This record gives sequence, structure tokens and C-alpha cells, in this order.
Amino acid sequence: MISGTERLLSFQPLELLFRRHWRTLVQLFNAGHFASVLNRIEDLQPRVVRPDHRRRLDFIAGLARACEAWDTLRYEAACQGFQRLIKEFRGLTQDLGLHGDLQRASDVVHGIWHSRCKKSDCNCGLPLDTRTALDLLANADRRAAEHRYDVAVALLYRLMEYIAQRRLHDLGIRTDDVRLERLPEDVRAKWEPRGDADGRLKVGMLQGYELLADLSDDLGRKFLELYWAVASPLRPYLESRNMSPLAHGFQPVGQDVFEKLRAVITDEFLGKLVPDWRNRLAVHRLPRLPEA
Ligand SMILES: [Zn+2]
Repeated sequence: MISGTERLLSFQPLELLFRRHWRTLVQLFNAGHFASVLNRIEDLQPRVVRPDHRRRLDFIAGLARACEAWDTLRYEAACQGFQRLIKEFRGLTQDLGLHGDLQRASDVVHGIWHSRCKKSDCNCGLPLDTRTALDLLANADRRAAEHRYDVAVALLYRLMEYIAQRRLHDLGIRTDDVRLERLPEDVRAKWEPRGDADGRLKVGMLQGYELLADLSDDLGRKFLELYWAVASPLRPYLESRNMSPLAHGFQPVGQDVFEKLRAVITDEFLGKLVPDWRNRLAVHRLPRLPEA
């Protein structure tokens, strides 16, 4: 036996065993099963002794937590998670070829989280970065890929609502606190009866677009035209969300509803807010680990 190989042999079983665990973790991670990754790591941690292996487990656990936060739209936690990984695991992220991917993910969640409206005369907290809209769409697409169409459609509904909120915000109106006295007189006359005793009003998605239309906004008008059309390409699909088990009913939502609603939102609405949305959507994918 050549001197030095004994050491190699004594480490090899551990290395092989760890590689097998790592492969499984990577597969689960790339399939988006972040909770399974974290549960498995919790089981493994007491049994893994080598410092480099422990470090890899800490890294993939941190990555799973950051991605899970992003995938559930918890931008603050995602922001902190990705920044910590970039700072604390520089060597490992470079070895795995992940540095660019993590920086991209970090930029997206950071951009959205730090764009919340903090204007002194508003301070409503709405993320103003239009990447928020793309992120909702990318998230809906991921849920659809998992066949969770009810969640995907709920996210598309949220996207429609966000577009109205964002548009109204440009006009100085916050949907959770519409100041009727600030509306033009002719519009105010129509909306006043809907407000409370203090002259305040909250508007949901439908009313948001109605208000936009009353303020001569193109998207508001387009929404009402499509929504109230005979054989509307919009109303039945938005209503499907209301009748889904995640909202107020027990009617499951299928792929057909998702695809039709996605098409009308992207063709008629999203493009007005983010003209080059098609080219920019890929930026919102989750990081992937190399499957070697
Ligand atoms: Zn605001």
C-alpha cells in the first residue's frame, strides 16, 4: 500500500455516504421541496461530523430557507437570507457556480422589498418596483407547474389587483384609504355615497379598476370593457377564484382557468405596466443547484 492511501480509505465511506445524501438534497431542492430539504437536514445534522460536510448542510439549509421565503413572497426574510449566503459562503457558492444566481435572486427580492412606498404624504408600504408584478406572475407559473391551479389563479388575481393599486398610486390614490376629497368633483359625486362617515373608502380589485376608468385611465377602461362584455374573457375566470376553496367556495380551479386568465392578464394589462415583461420574467426564477 502506498503511504497516504490509508487516510484516503478511512475517509472515503463518509465521503460516499455524504455524496449520496447531497444528491438527494439537491434533487429535492431543485424540485422546490424546501420543507423536505429542511426536514432531511435536521435528521442528518447530528450524524454528519466532517466540518466541510456540516458547512455544506448549513449552506443548503440557508438556501432552502431563503428560497422558501421568496416563493411565499416574504421578501424581507428572502432579502436577509440571500445576503447572508452571499457573505458567509463565498467560497462554496463559487465552487458550486452559484454566485451569479444568488446575486440575481438577492437583487430581485432586495429591489422589491426596498421599493415599498415610504413617501411622507402616503407611506402606504406598497412595493412600487414593477418587478413585483413579474414576481407574482413567476410565482403563479411555478404553482401552475406543480398543478396547484387554485393557488396559481389566486396569485393571478393578486397580480390584477396589484396592477390597479400601482396605477392608482401613480395618481396619488391608495386603495386602502381613498381620500374622496382629493378626487375630481365629477368623480367624487359618484363615489361619495360609498365612503364611510369620515369620507374614507377602501376599494378592492373590481372597484379599483372602476375608479381608474372614472379617472380616464386606459387600463381601467380596458378592464371594464372586457369584464362586462358578453362572453367576457375575464369575468368568469376572475370569478373562479372567488368560488375556489381558497376564497369563498368549493369549486376546484383547473389548468384551463389558469391559462385563460394568464393570457388575458399578460396580453391586455401586464404589458402596459412592464412593456418588456417577456424578456424579464426569467430573472424571477429560483436558483438551481448543480445536479452532479
Ligand atoms: Zn404610497
